[in-house]
Amino acid sequence: MSVHKAQAERMDRDRYAELRGILEGRRREIVSAVQDKIRDVRSEGANNPTHGVLDAAETSEADIQDDIEFALIQMKAETLNKIEEALRRLEENTFGYCFECGEEISERRLRALPFAVRCKDCEEAREVAQQRERVVAQRRGAASLFMDMSS
Ligand SMILES: [Zn+2]
Repeated sequence: MSVHKAQAERMDRDRYAELRGILEGRRREIVSAVQDKIRDVRSEGANNPTHGVLDAAETSEADIQDDIEFALIQMKAETLNKIEEALRRLEENTFGYCFECGEEISERRLRALPFAVRCKDCEEAREVAQQRERVVAQRRGAASLFMDMSS
């Protein structure tokens, strides 16, 4: 916890306000998108007197559309949960710091990727390491295949 305490002292008010603004902006966007969608569905139902006399093909098309919209709303709900979680972490002063090295993640990066848990350098290092692991695994796979063939 001493690391978090040091971070709490380091987090300046400008950065806190900036990060909070990013997260709350995202939250507002999603909430209003979901509300628009619900309003659309309602007004569609009200302005559509033929509703209920769709033929089978139209009905299944409408069902598919409903499924897609439901999936989209569900995705947005999941994103909202992540934002709530991030806001909680912001209050605890654990948001916006790299999981690996503990350095501040740049505002620019958080603006593009609000749920980033690593700084750019650590993320890149991790990708390189994963790439290397894949290559080693492939070579090992090829080597064992060769051994199998020669035995
Ligand atoms: Zn880092």
